[in-house]
Parts: sequence; structure tokens; C-alpha cells
Amino acid sequence: MARILFTSKAGGFSRPPFDSFNLALHVSDSPLDVEANRRKLESEFSVSRVIFMDQTHSNVVAVVDEETQESPNADALFTRTKGLALAVLVADCIPLLLHSIDAVAAVHVGRRGMTNGIIEKVVNTFRTYSDAPISADLGPSICDKCYEVDLPMYQEVIGSVPASATSIERHCLDLPSGVTSILNSLDITSKNWSVCTRESSNHFSYRKNTITGRQAGVVAL
Ligand SMILES: [Zn+2]
Repeated sequence: MARILFTSKAGGFSRPPFDSFNLALHVSDSPLDVEANRRKLESEFSVSRVIFMDQTHSNVVAVVDEETQESPNADALFTRTKGLALAVLVADCIPLLLHSIDAVAAVHVGRRGMTNGIIEKVVNTFRTYSDAPISADLGPSICDKCYEVDLPMYQEVIGSVPASATSIERHCLDLPSGVTSILNSLDITSKNWSVCTRESSNHFSYRKNTITGRQAGVVAL
């Protein structure tokens, strides 16, 4: 049975503007504070190690195990190793956690990952090993009211994933609905935690504050 966790801003050691539970090393926060936050995450999640990744809005899936040393350059981490925790870092993108009886994955899904097929790729990775049913959790992310993009970008994304449409007047993207439609097409049941990072005072949001921290979605078998 997989375990999942979505962190928030609260409970860490980082100082403003990263206060306080920032888990990202790439945002100019003090590395010592980030490491202290990561140790706290390991302790609270009762694991000896959490694997992070260097995310670039790609569709690269990294298969990891207890031998993995570095943070892979990827936007999805997949493992079949029990007790190995995987983390995706976000501040508006969707932290998507996939889990079955014998594997888990942590996936970074923004509009580029969604249209580049990262969800389909990571699901293919599950099905390479097993036909076990997969479930999904969509953690806190920017909502359809808050994610306005320019009109050409809006039309490009909804042309690729129609369920991410709102209205031509607003040209806001609905990423959670887009992701849910892709998961449905792959026979994956999903739960949307329905917290908007931009509206929540308890979450980091890049749209709200360009210089800010990152929260995490964490999953382990
Ligand atoms: Zn919102």
C-alpha cells in the first residue's frame, strides 16, 4: 500500500521569502536550511531517504532504486523499491502522485509536461512491469480561475488537451481537468485535492511571488 504526502509552507526552517518549509535547492534559499527541511521531511515520512529530481518541464521518466545516488534530470520518478520515497517539487504546477500495489511515481505536470505526454510516458513505465490498477492523486496546484495565459498559448494547449479549456474570453487554463481527462483515458482513477496554490496562504505560488519556495508531493511504497 503506497503512502502519500503533500507538504505546505508551514513547519520548516527557511527564512523569508522561503518561509518556512521550502524543499528546493535551486531557488536561492540557504542550502543548510533546505537540508534541515529535507531531514525533517524524511523523519516525518519515516523514510531514510527521499529522492528529488532536477525538473525542466521535460517528459523524461527516471526509473530509480536504492542504488540511485544523484538527483536525476527528469520530470517523473518511478520506483518499485519498497521504502524509497520519491518527491516532486512545485509552486503552481501539479504534483501528481501515481501508485499501484507494486510501484509508485512522482510526476511534475505543468502545461508543457501535460502536452508533451509525460503522463502517458510514466503510465507506460508502470505497464512495462505490471498490469496492476493504478490510482492517482493531484495535489495543490493553480486553479482554472488563476492560471491566465496569452491567447495563442491558450489555444495551443486546449488544441492538445481540450479538457483544459475554460473560455476564450478568460483564456485561463484548467490544468487539473486536463490532467484528469488524460488519466481517465488511461483507465486511472484519480483524486483532486482541489487546493489552489495561488489563493492559499499556506502554499508557495510562483504566480503570486516570483521569488518563493517549493512544496512537495511525496510517495513511497
Ligand atoms: Zn485559484
